[in-house]
Amino acid sequence: MNVDVAIVGAGVSGLTAAHRLSLRGHEVMVLERQARLGGNAISERADGFLMEHGPSAINTTLPHAAELSAALGIEDEVVDLGDAVRRRYIVDGGLRGIAVHPFGILTSRLLTPLGRLRLLAEPLLPRRRDEGDETVAAFWSRRFGREFERKLVEPLAGGMFAGVGNDLSMRALFPALLQMEREDGSVTVGIIKRRMANRQMPARRLISWRDGVAALPAALARSLGGAVRTGATVRTITAEAGGYRIELARDGVVHARTVLLATQSHVAGMLLEELDGAAAEACHGIEAPPLATMFLGYRRGQVAHPLDGLGYLAVPGQGARMLTGAQFCSTMFPGRAPKGHVALAGYVGGDRSPDLARLPADDLIALAREEFGDLLGASGQPVVARVRQWDRGLPQFRPGHGQRTTVLGELPNRRPGLFLTGNYLGGPSVSACLAGAYRAAKSIDAYLAGLPAEAVLETRSQREDEKGG
Ligand SMILES: Cc1cc2nc3c(=O)[nH]c(=O)nc-3n(C[C@H](O)[C@H](O)[C@H](O)COP(=O)(O)OP(=O)(O)OC[C@H]3O[C@@H](n4cnc5c(N)ncnc54)[C@H](O)[C@@H]3O)c2cc1C
Repeated sequence: MNVDVAIVGAGVSGLTAAHRLSLRGHEVMVLERQARLGGNAISERADGFLMEHGPSAINTTLPHAAELSAALGIEDEVVDLGDAVRRRYIVDGGLRGIAVHPFGILTSRLLTPLGRLRLLAEPLLPRRRDEGDETVAAFWSRRFGREFERKLVEPLAGGMFAGVGNDLSMRALFPALLQMEREDGSVTVGIIKRRMANRQMPARRLISWRDGVAALPAALARSLGGAVRTGATVRTITAEAGGYRIELARDGVVHARTVLLATQSHVAGMLLEELDGAAAEACHGIEAPPLATMFLGYRRGQVAHPLDGLGYLAVPGQGARMLTGAQFCSTMFPGRAPKGHVALAGYVGGDRSPDLARLPADDLIALAREEFGDLLGASGQPVVARVRQWDRGLPQFRPGHGQRTTVLGELPNRRPGLFLTGNYLGGPSVSACLAGAYRAAKSIDAYLAGLPAEAVLETRSQREDEKGG
């Protein structure tokens, strides 16, 4: 079989790129190892509950999720976190609520009076002159104080990136904040200036769909019809005249003018070994420690807490909780639990506690039940309890990550017609994956149209512009 573009992997990244390229009239073939589409995005219905085993909410700061919903005809199915979910909880000993508004942290009792004063001092601090890649923990401690970093940034690092602040790269994850420090001398001033100018700070909403996040890859696959093949594991890729030869574990060979690898980084690393040693090494250097999610459904009367928020995140450290955090799924979006019931999802693992994510499933359920009992007053047997263990969870953007992505971004220079996309490049969130897939599709389209290499290459500054926006 001969195609213009072979895409390896049918997660949100691969399917989005395929959809964009099909719209441009290219003949595309998506090759997916599993029988199921969507990669990390797994939404399961059981006993009236809708369980998200992977992503549960998409940030709409970038426009692609909304744009795709409209293009695929699923915008009526979008569900919005909405303004009613006004609280987030932090676990520091017990649960402490923080209201979601600009002064929420200043008015909560999470920080000591000294810690709150230290926050207010941020605009007075000198900007950093050193250009080296700083860790997330170092940046936030330096600008906003150690207490803020420990009680807010660390819980977020665990919850959003499955990482620890001391081992995450500020430059890779928060380039826009570094830019504010550089340009305005202060993050606080930078945010206020941008809010006032109403630029670079679009409204941040969290959305999903009635049938869960997996509704997006399902709609993308429908739009692609027969261009998606499941149970098609790509074993090797070799260069040949006019493109690439893709060998499948079963069912033969595909010939393609261009190839887009839209897999996890370790798979991309394996497939690149014979084609580009530098890119393979860069991919293999990106770790993704294991993660586990525990979904528990209860009758409403079994849980004492009002569940009046998005969920909680835990401050790590001595005497800390085992879970990095939990979501109050039935509060976040409608239809996540049957009438008279509530749904909770707990998260464990990542860089903070990789070994916990490998515990037997029954132990993980027991862990979640115990913690929900202590913190939320959940009692008795849950109505449903499911565990999903991810051998490789989220890619870790460690200091120096930018050097790896530079090597990877330049791959099409060294191997014309070979492209990469995925959550280890532009950011681990679904919205970053969609943005990356759009860029990859644009580069492939330009390549197939015979445009010069400069038009094809995804540059670092382009990525940073989008993150800043
Ligand atoms: C537990 C969890 C919770 C998360 N929560 C959120 C959240 O709430 N919000 C958010 O924005 N993000 C969240 N994320 C992150 C987000 O879900 C992922 O980063 C994103 O879905 C990755 O999509 P992808 O298409 O790049 O990769 P993947 O989803 O990993 O897809 C890669 C695909 O490639 C296939 N493949 C692999 N090898 C081969 C091969 N040899 N041949 C053919 N196919 C192959 C795989 O089977 C897979 O389907 C979460 C992730 C996890 C694990």
